[in-house]
Amino acid sequence: MSKINILNYTKEELGSIIKPSFRAKQLYEWIYKKYVNSFDDMKNIPKDLREILKENYYLCPLKISTIEQSSDGSIKYLFALNDGKTIESVLLPMKKEEVADDGKLIHHTRYTICISSQVGCKIGCSFCLTGKSGFLRNLTSGEITSQVLMIKKDNNIAENRRVNIVFMGMGEPLDNLDNVQKAVKIFSDPFGLSISPRRQTISTSGLSAQIKKLGNMNLGVLLAISLHAVDDKLREQLMPINKAYNIESIIDAVKEFPVDARKRVMFEYLVIKNLNDDIKSAKKLVKLLHGIKAKVNLIFFNPHDGSNYQRPEIKDVLAFQDYLLKHGVLCTIRESKGLDISAACGQLKDRQEKK
Ligand code: SAH
Ligand code: SF4
Repeated sequence: MSKINILNYTKEELGSIIKPSFRAKQLYEWIYKKYVNSFDDMKNIPKDLREILKENYYLCPLKISTIEQSSDGSIKYLFALNDGKTIESVLLPMKKEEVADDGKLIHHTRYTICISSQVGCKIGCSFCLTGKSGFLRNLTSGEITSQVLMIKKDNNIAENRRVNIVFMGMGEPLDNLDNVQKAVKIFSDPFGLSISPRRQTISTSGLSAQIKKLGNMNLGVLLAISLHAVDDKLREQLMPINKAYNIESIIDAVKEFPVDARKRVMFEYLVIKNLNDDIKSAKKLVKLLHGIKAKVNLIFFNPHDGSNYQRPEIKDVLAFQDYLLKHGVLCTIRESKGLDISAACGQLKDRQEKK
């Protein structure tokens, strides 16, 4: 019988498999807080139980295949899964450590970790490399959570350091909702990584029916919508999924989505030169978001080999942002982190495979 990835289990599930159930808490602490790599290192677990665990389970579903470090501090990982397929994750230091004049620490470096939810993607957006390479398979919940664990370990990030998670790597998280929802629960366990759902953002290309389902689960996660266009014709061209779920259906689903009083739904808007970078689009976007607690994130399109689209002019992106801000819509511009490595999703994988 082949071994099972122990990271696939919530603490409650482990507690029903391994008796007495308090062992599940101990196991969680060894794995997610003390970062051990083998069952033998779990000192307070009796030897006979360790042997049973060793026979039936394994701890590390990922291997680091390639690491690329960018000059801005972000680090991109290509991980190999047990079946040899590869996925990408990125560590993004968002705010540098701050120390007061008297030497007291104001806050540690704040990290965001961008993770994948599938190998490839079925949605096939025309601007996205992951979409172009097609779909291979869903990631298991353990393969999803392991990306964060591996990156914390590899960078010696202390277990109690706050990290944010964004499901913005490869894949469409809402097309793998069962495993993603389980990963959210595993991430948030106080005996494990202890990452509150309010620090986890699920980004979707807009599967309206699944957005409703996710909302009904009431996990407390944040929602990001990859909108990218304000009229259905252009959106269909960029994202074929818009034929099944048009803009109106997405907006309706977002309006029903439970949002924490202090939080907002993020709308990602990939700015592409001469396609959606004009003020007319900004105007439509303001109208579209009327009545929604929204925040817009403008992303510079990042060109890659074989793409027909172009990076927008900085002045046009700034004018777009300015229009939104003047009309009461919160709007940020995503820093071009990792641009000198292989920024947007799928690009490191693509380069490795061409070597
Ligand atoms: N499938 C989900 C989550 C992963 S995609 C979604 O689409 O929301 C993560 C983000 O990468 C998306 O917002 C997508 O628009 C962005 N992206 C894809 N290709 C890009 C490119 N060439 N340049 C910049 N951003 C890109
Ligand atoms: Fe899939 Fe997101 Fe890429 Fe579209 S942008 S192909 S949904 S990963």
